[in-house]
Amino acid sequence: MEVVQHISLKPLHTFGMEVQGAQLIRLKNAAEVASILTKNVDNLPLLVLGGGSNMLFLNDMNRFIIKNEIKGIELLEEDADVVILKVGAGEVWDEFVTYAVAHNYCGIENMALIPGTIGAAPMQNIGAYGREVKDVIVGVEYWNLETAQIEMLTNEQCHFGYRDSIFKHELKGKVIITSVTFKLSKHINLNTSYGTIQDELALLGISNPSIADVAKVVRKIRLEKLPNPIEIGNAGSFFKNPTISNAQYAALKAEYPTIPGYAVGTQNTKVPAAWLIEQCGWKGHKEGHVGVHHRQPLVLVHFGDGHGQEIYDLSSKIIDSIQTKFGITLEREVQLYQ
Ligand code: FAD
Ligand code: NAP
Repeated sequence: MEVVQHISLKPLHTFGMEVQGAQLIRLKNAAEVASILTKNVDNLPLLVLGGGSNMLFLNDMNRFIIKNEIKGIELLEEDADVVILKVGAGEVWDEFVTYAVAHNYCGIENMALIPGTIGAAPMQNIGAYGREVKDVIVGVEYWNLETAQIEMLTNEQCHFGYRDSIFKHELKGKVIITSVTFKLSKHINLNTSYGTIQDELALLGISNPSIADVAKVVRKIRLEKLPNPIEIGNAGSFFKNPTISNAQYAALKAEYPTIPGYAVGTQNTKVPAAWLIEQCGWKGHKEGHVGVHHRQPLVLVHFGDGHGQEIYDLSSKIIDSIQTKFGITLEREVQLYQ
């Protein structure tokens, strides 16, 4: 339990900018949280860091950084239908997916290859290809910085929404998530509704896919389409896909007949932000050390030697152009740190 002073955060976040952290400590065990916090003798603001794959640093981080490395997968309950697993917040999400697929546990195979840790998964209710983590979370355990004790929220109490949860609102900056408990199914109940998954399965001649088949296909699609942060700095989708009213969508459709949309309930439509960004001419755009990815325009990229502010400024220009052309306000998904 050693505090490291003046640490480079470049290898600790996927945008890969040269950013200095004031102090960093590695949290290996939930029981150590209280004693770790006493090491913050300068009373710096806290920053909880997982895999750093959903963060943009706009300045050096004059903070006490807690790098969550709590490990362990514990089988709490099992019957003929389900398993209940308690997973340490510092476990790597994709390694948990690999574990589940290897045991033939169903429910998270569509979320293969999402970077980051277990502890960050409930923060923004990670999701991909028609599945969200909220559908398999039983509860989230965390250290409450205000009450100075371990507490637990049930799934319902987490107020999960699209890329959203209580941890981005009422509990923002107030908790250190220590573990997440999941319920996975022993029965095969796959969601292959996304067009790209169907196309890829058809290409492989698989008509009755297994859990492992779906995970494999998702990995393949992602490796082909998304930039690998090891090769080029990025934090995945920079913006959320906006949801607009059916009336606004119909009006836009009349003007832009090719605009894609997916029903959200009966009143609203989700429009892919990537399409809007491409229509405004940003796809493949470069300025200074940053740009818009040439295959997936929802991903802003850092080519090296750049600053977080450059990404932020580019994102503001994109937001303005989409507001002007379509009357839609894009919301940033990536967490900003000043
Ligand atoms: P970090 O970036 O380290 O942290 C994110 C936020 O959570 C920060 O505010 C941090 O303080 C907080 N936090 C982290 N851990 C804890 C904890 N234990 N307790 C309290 N707060 C904590 N997301 C998706 O939803 N779907 C995708 O398909 C997807 N694809 C991606 C693809 C790429 C190439 C990249 C780079 C990112 C992608 N993302 C995706 C975004 C990212 O992977 C997720 O948001 C992921 O959950 C972030 O995990 P992390 O451990 O890296 O979190
Ligand atoms: P895509 O398949 O090109 O589709 C574009 C968007 O349209 C998706 O983001 C998705 O919204 C929506 N969509 C597509 N088919 C749909 C369907 N059948 N039903 C409902 N909505 C549909 O998307 P992509 O960019 O390649 O990403 C694939 C998946 O990985 C998506 O689920 C995406 O969210 C996820 N992903 C997320 C991140 C991130 O950082 N958050 C990064 C990469 C990929 P949804 O986003 O709501 O699914």
